[in-house]
Amino acid sequence: MGRRVYLDHHATTPVDPRVVEIMLPYFTEKFGNPASRQHHWGWEAEQAVERARRQVAGLIGARPEEIVFTSGATESCNLAIKGAAEACAGRGDHLITVATEHRAVLDCCRRLERRGVRVSLLGVDRDGLVDLVEIERAITPRTFLISVMYANNEIGVIQPVREIGRIARERGVFFHCDATQAVGRIPVDVEADCIDLLSFSAHKMYGPKGVGALYVRSRNPRVGIVPQMDGGGHERGLRSGTLNVPGIVGFGEACAIAQREMAEEAARLRRLRDRLLERLLGELELVRVNGSMERRLPGNLSLSFAGVDAAGLMRELREIALSSGSACSSAEEGPSHVLRALGLDEATARSTIRIGLGRFNTEEEIEYAAGRLVEAVRRLRELSPVYALLKERLEAGQST
Ligand SMILES: *Cc1c(COP(=O)(O)O)cnc(C)c1O
Repeated sequence: MGRRVYLDHHATTPVDPRVVEIMLPYFTEKFGNPASRQHHWGWEAEQAVERARRQVAGLIGARPEEIVFTSGATESCNLAIKGAAEACAGRGDHLITVATEHRAVLDCCRRLERRGVRVSLLGVDRDGLVDLVEIERAITPRTFLISVMYANNEIGVIQPVREIGRIARERGVFFHCDATQAVGRIPVDVEADCIDLLSFSAHKMYGPKGVGALYVRSRNPRVGIVPQMDGGGHERGLRSGTLNVPGIVGFGEACAIAQREMAEEAARLRRLRDRLLERLLGELELVRVNGSMERRLPGNLSLSFAGVDAAGLMRELREIALSSGSACSSAEEGPSHVLRALGLDEATARSTIRIGLGRFNTEEEIEYAAGRLVEAVRRLRELSPVYALLKERLEAGQST
C-alpha cells in the first residue's frame, strides 16, 4: 500500500509520541496501585495520578478534586446522567436533551425513560444549533437536568453552551455537557460556561483509549450524583475500580500539551480545512456543507456530494480514512440521526461524508486528499445513470 491519509479524527486520534513516552514507565518499573497506601510503589503511582488530575482539571478550569477518572466518555455520560437522575429522584423526573447528541447520551436518556423519567428531545435548526428559547420553554419545576453537547462529532457544530449554562444556573437545573469533541480542540471552561457535569475522553485528544473523565462541580452549587459502579470506593466513592494508571498519566500529558498548543493548532487546522473546502467547492458542483460554518470545530467538514453514494466514494478512496457518520454508533442502521435531525432527506444523507483533520496532517496530505476527492466524485457522477437528471433538477431548484 502506498500513501495513506487519516482524516477521521472525530472517531479517534493517534496517541501523541510525547504522551506514549510519559506512559511507558507506568507499565513496567512504576507499576504500583495508587490505592496501595503502605509502600513506595503505591505512593509513586498515586503521585502520578494526582499530577495527571491537576493537568486534566487545569485544561477545563476545574479543581483537581472535581475530576473523576473513568474508562471514557461513554462511561462519563452514563455516570453523569444516570447518577444525577438517581440523586435527584425525589425532586425531579424530567430531563432535556437534543436530537443530535451522541448515542452515549441518547441511550442513557432512553434507558431512564423506561424507568419513568420524562425526556424532552429538542430539535435543531438547519445549521445544527439548538434554540435557547426552546430550552427555556421546556424547563418545568420537575426538570433536574439539561444535557447538551459542546461540539458535535459528525458535523462539528458548537452549541451555545455558555448561554445554556446560564439558563440552567438561573433556573436551578443541573447542566451536563458531553464535551468529548471540544476538550483539547477549543477552549472549555466549566466556570465561564456554568457547567455542572462535563464528560470527555483521552482518545479524542491524542491520548490513549480506555480512559476519560467526568467533571463534577463541588461548589456553587455542589452537584451530587449516585455512583453507578460499586466496589472499593475509589475516586471519592464515585467510581470504584483500580485506576488505569498508565492511561491516566497519558491523559494528563495529552491535556497539558493541548493547553499549550491548542491556539496554534486550531489556527493551523482551520487553515487546512478551509483550503480543502475551497478546492472542493471550486472544482466540484453541487457540494453542500452541513452545519454552521461559523460555529464549528476547526478541523471538521461534513459534506454532501449530490448524486454520489458515500459508501461508494469511500470504496474509491480506500487509502484515505473518511467516515459516513459516527464510528461510535456501530449499531446504527441507515442514515445518521444527526443528519436526519438537520432535515436532510435520505438521499442527501447517504451522499454525506465527515472529514476530521488532526494534529499530524500535513498541507501536502490535504492537497492530495482534495485532488483524490475531486477525481473520485467526478468519476462516480460520470458513471451515475441519474446524475445528469438530478443536476438539472437541483439547479432548477436553486434558481427559484
Ligand atoms: C467519542 C465520543 C463519545 C464516546 O467516547 P468514548 O471515550 O469512546 O466512550 C461520546 N460523545 C462524543 C461526542 C464522542 O465524540
